[in-house]
Amino acid sequence: HQAQQHREAAALFDAGQYGDPSRNLTLMTRMLQATRSGDMSMHYQPKLNLRTGRYQSAEALCRWFDPQQGFIPPAAFIHQAEEMGHIRALTEWAIQRVIDDQRRLAEAGHDICVATNISGALVCDTDFVDIALDLIRTAAGRITFEITETAVMDDPELAIANLNRINEAGVRLSIDDYGSGLSSLAYLRTLPARELKLDRAFVQHVATSERDRMVVKSTVDLAHNLGLDLVAEGVEDDAGLAIVKLLGCDWAQGFGLSRPLPVPELVAFLDAARAAGAVELPAPTFTP
Ligand code: C2E
Ligand code: MG
Ligand code: MG
Ligand code: MG
Repeated sequence: HQAQQHREAAALFDAGQYGDPSRNLTLMTRMLQATRSGDMSMHYQPKLNLRTGRYQSAEALCRWFDPQQGFIPPAAFIHQAEEMGHIRALTEWAIQRVIDDQRRLAEAGHDICVATNISGALVCDTDFVDIALDLIRTAAGRITFEITETAVMDDPELAIANLNRINEAGVRLSIDDYGSGLSSLAYLRTLPARELKLDRAFVQHVATSERDRMVVKSTVDLAHNLGLDLVAEGVEDDAGLAIVKLLGCDWAQGFGLSRPLPVPELVAFLDAARAAGAVELPAPTFTP
């Protein structure tokens, strides 16, 4: 019986890799069930403001713990949800969770900004945008939308009109995974963004790669010249942290600072960080 369960769980997980339509349908049904049963939850990865040395934001990342399969990573279902039209339901659930958790954080003494991931495709869905703006009505000024895969936006004019509405509502727009191939310079000129998140591929090896340091530095200049904050994601150690700060990044995020955490652990992390005062960075050391 247990072997059977394991086979089913493996089949469910494989759906992510192989794209079998009926398996994907099962995956989606299970995913939507998980948002109702509590198997889907939100974890939050702290974002360090490098100018103040304080954790002033956190990114919401969904976490699916299936009773049989265990952890099912977002990479195994977000793309399918986008392809199969279920990303809207997942994202509405996510925004509601973020609003509730942000209130819980404020009650625990941490009134911080929270960033949530929004697929580029949803930006063209005006009904979704109406609902999203309604959900965040009272918190818009402390919410960031990290927009991913902007290149898949099929109607750029509509996308820009909707993004302008989101921006005017006070939401901070961030262009996620910048440089990973899907985001393009064309969007940078036209989107009302306030933040650029450089893809972690360019950040992970800054301590040992001179070329990666050049890319980070040039992107910092590009962002600043356009009036945007630059976030370094994927900061994995102190050496990387010191270097991204030296290169002028405004924010840092990564396993070297903290893993994504459930709300009670995030509160404990923020309590400890507050007690310790501003984060002091070690002197940068590079390998040329
Ligand atoms: P993302 O928005 O770029 O999120 C950052 C990803 O990098 C997260 O992976 C995070 O756990 C991981 N990460 C953070 N720091 C480090 C580091 O130092 N090293 C390495 N190697 N990785 C690091 P995760 O949680 O697996 O999410 C993957 C992607 O799935 C996200 O990329 C985002 O595009 C998508 N995603 C996650 N949650 C949601 C959600 O609620 N809604 C939507 N639409 N997409 C989501
Ligand atoms: Mg993100
Ligand atoms: Mg990212
Ligand atoms: Mg990513």
